[in-house]
Amino acid sequence: MAPILHRLTEHVTAIDLQFQGRTEVIAAYLFYDGATAALIETGPAITLDNLLAGIQAAGAPLEALRQVIVTHIHLDHSGAAGIIARQFPWVTVYVHPIGAPHLLDPSKLLASATRLYGDQLNSLWGIPAPVPEKNLVIFNAGESLAIPGSNLSAYDTPGHARHHHAYLDERSGLLFTGDVGGVRMPGIRYVRPPTPPPELEIDAWVASIARLRALNASGLCLTHFGLFRGNLDWHWNDLEQRLVKWGDLIREALAQGVDETEMLKRIKNQVALEMQTLGADLAAYDVAASYEAIVSGYVRYWKKKLSAQ
Ligand SMILES: [Zn+2]
Repeated sequence: MAPILHRLTEHVTAIDLQFQGRTEVIAAYLFYDGATAALIETGPAITLDNLLAGIQAAGAPLEALRQVIVTHIHLDHSGAAGIIARQFPWVTVYVHPIGAPHLLDPSKLLASATRLYGDQLNSLWGIPAPVPEKNLVIFNAGESLAIPGSNLSAYDTPGHARHHHAYLDERSGLLFTGDVGGVRMPGIRYVRPPTPPPELEIDAWVASIARLRALNASGLCLTHFGLFRGNLDWHWNDLEQRLVKWGDLIREALAQGVDETEMLKRIKNQVALEMQTLGADLAAYDVAASYEAIVSGYVRYWKKKLSAQ
């Protein structure tokens, strides 16, 4: 597969990982200053070859790669980090403190992903390797990290997961949102909240949105997918209102005692209505954030929350 690159600034390139042979589903972001290179996100293990081909197509030799920074430890964001650290032992992997144990030992993460994907796990995402301890560094919120051509600041952004950071490129003002910025496809004014189990927290997510909105970034770099400039307030509003609205829909369904199959139907009906208003096809969104994961994330969240009351 020929590499697909999007040059965002003089020093930042988005690499389309062409997940499942599709464009515009998962991105990794390459920083390269002519001497050394860094990545934000690796994508899953299964698209590693596309990632490495993309780095080289962007003009960076693989030996130049020094840093891998991940927004969180879900397989579609950091699934290739351990393999990279083993193949290129001079690479340092940077991660949120809560995510660090799971990069060192992915077994719990794999068990949780297996509950979601069953025996499709391997063919969908590939199997991550543990990151060797000597290659792993904890990146704390509030810290700044020198990367090729810039500095990166980390912001704690729970909601999608507790081990989630967003990163601000201090030179370009671009904000790398991982999944806390939602899923949005190029050319479409629609932001979907990816709400998988087990750590979805709606309140925390809303607070994270407020924190990131206040940064007044020059653009949002979404892992799913790409750079959005322009009216970022619109983007944050669209994400927040849908995150809350879908949450209400599932809470209502739970109160009525309906099962997850019925909830899936209700969410799909809701999306069908939204698509009509929008006049756009949202099928591409399903690959990055499946309805099954969305519904089971909300169900788990509400059950935990309501039983704690
Ligand atoms: Zn994701």
